[in-house]
Amino acid sequence: QQTSRGSYKLYNAELSAIMSNKARLLFDLKAAIEKRQLSVVYQPQFCVQENRMTGLEVLVRWNHPERGVISPAEFIPLAEQNSLICGITDFVMRQAIDELTEHGLLYRDVQRVSFNVSAADFNGNESCDRFLANLSQLPGDWSVIELELTESAALLNLEGVRQVLEKLTAKGVQVSLDDFGTGYSSLNTLRLLPIQEVKIDQSFVKDIVQNKQDAKLVKTILAMAQALHLRVVAEGVETHAQANYLMTAGCQEFQGFLYARPMSINHLITFIKNLKQRQRAQS
Ligand code: C2E
Ligand code: MG
Ligand code: MG
Ligand code: MG
Repeated sequence: QQTSRGSYKLYNAELSAIMSNKARLLFDLKAAIEKRQLSVVYQPQFCVQENRMTGLEVLVRWNHPERGVISPAEFIPLAEQNSLICGITDFVMRQAIDELTEHGLLYRDVQRVSFNVSAADFNGNESCDRFLANLSQLPGDWSVIELELTESAALLNLEGVRQVLEKLTAKGVQVSLDDFGTGYSSLNTLRLLPIQEVKIDQSFVKDIVQNKQDAKLVKTILAMAQALHLRVVAEGVETHAQANYLMTAGCQEFQGFLYARPMSINHLITFIKNLKQRQRAQS
């Protein structure tokens, strides 16, 4: 009894420590959105065969004053559960468009900018207007913008998502199905939503060279994408062996640490300058 009560107490203490940790994180996150402690980084994507950068994925970062950089994998779920996601999406979209246009990269060096969006971004009647407002500062064609949506997010609110995406794609916005193959109903999502691209999830890429099953699944995704005229981007490419394997299987576009890590706007400017220099030297 004594021990069981003791362990119960311990459990309770641990639980409340975790709870207050989470509550604290939530409190800090609300402040962070207001105090502009969030920032964006960019990860380039490449067509290796044609030796060119095809686009950028925008990823949010939280620079916490005490804890340092906190991963979106940790705070995006928290934001999603607490109605904070729209504020983050608005910030990320506006900030990236601002930075890229301010430095003259958009349309000249960058032909596609992909943003991650959540199910909650599609809730309510005003959700489409929010996207329209966020994109209103674009100095050109909206086809440079792509929204990355996971299957699980799409399924949470399929009809709401569909209505908004139909309106946005009519204006040229592209749609990508992120983490493709990890959701419950990948094919149904492809059937019901206006989608132009799938991103092969990193978990398939990771062991593609050794694991025959993963390799076959990736080949099947590529064949399906080809039949449906979808673009395919492989995510999380870290080694030449993975890249070669994917290339032989017919994959055209690559994103991963092998090519470039997510980087700040200042690093991106240098990165693009160096890339252009190398391309000029080769031609
Ligand atoms: P995601 O959209 O699937 O993004 C890809 C993640 O893989 C990023 O992690 C990226 O840094 C990481 N990555 C890229 N290349 C490699 C590689 O070669 N190896 C490995 N191991 N990882 C690689 P990050 O930035 O930590 O983002 C995690 C997730 O958080 C994203 O997954 C996305 O679901 C979510 N997220 C990030 N930014 C936003 C945002 O602005 N809004 C929303 N709603 N979600 C976001
Ligand atoms: Mg993504
Ligand atoms: Mg992904
Ligand atoms: Mg992911």
